Order: sequence, then structure tokens, then C-alpha cells
Amino acid sequence: MKIDGACHCGYITIEAEADPEKTTVCHCTDCQVGTGSAFRVSIPVKGDSFKVSGKPATYIKTTAESGNPRVQAFCPTCGTSLYSTTPGEGQQAMYIVRVGMLKQRDQLMPKRQIWWRSARNWVSGLDGIRKLEKQT
Ligand SMILES: [Zn+2]
Ligand SMILES: [Zn+2]
Repeated sequence: MKIDGACHCGYITIEAEADPEKTTVCHCTDCQVGTGSAFRVSIPVKGDSFKVSGKPATYIKTTAESGNPRVQAFCPTCGTSLYSTTPGEGQQAMYIVRVGMLKQRDQLMPKRQIWWRSARNWVSGLDGIRKLEKQT
């Protein structure tokens, strides 16, 4: 399916073709720190369908477990997390796009959860936490 979206301030837009079945929740500690939240939801897309407008800011994070350096891209203005990919010049083979910025996020139901061993111990109990339709 076609996916597209923009960062919080609108400077960066992304579009690509993605397989919704590949939507994944990652509970690794890098994703917790990088998002400021409990987990990250992402979807992989092939580089030949991936288009970005604007110029994302990037840094390289090398995770302890895999040892593979990953480029982390975010909006230089608003800080929205955009995608990760392999380091290198030009178009890369694969991009892991952050689902939170996509218009189709309602349709991108995660099909697997990885790094469950570092999941926050309350994520399975979210349904039992008091819910307010708005802020109060
Ligand atoms: Zn932005
Ligand atoms: Zn992760």
C-alpha cells in the first residue's frame, strides 16, 4: 500500500510503498530513549519506492547488540523521528519508516513485537489504565 506523511512542523514529507503486514513494534532500549516513549512502531520500505522532501537531520547510532551502525533521521526543526537506514551516499536499499508520522497509521496494525525482553513492564496492562477521551 501507499504510505505518506509529514513531520510535526510539515517541513519533511515522506512517501513510499509498504507491506502493512510488516508493521513492527520495537521495545528495545534505543527506541525507548530515541522516542522518549515506551516503544517505537515502524514499517520497512524498499529504497526504490522511498521519497523524502526537505533535508532530514541525521546521526549514526551503533547499537551494542548488533554492532551495525544505523542512520537515524529526524526533522531538524521539530525533531519528529522519521526513519532509520544504512549509512552511505545516495538512495539506500531499505528504510525503516516511523509509523507515527504516517497518515495511514490507523491501518498499520503491528504484526509483531521485537525486543520484548526490554519491554516496559506495564505495556501489556495499558487496557486496564484509566482512559479519558481528551486531556481531562
Ligand atoms: Zn518538522
Ligand atoms: Zn528498537
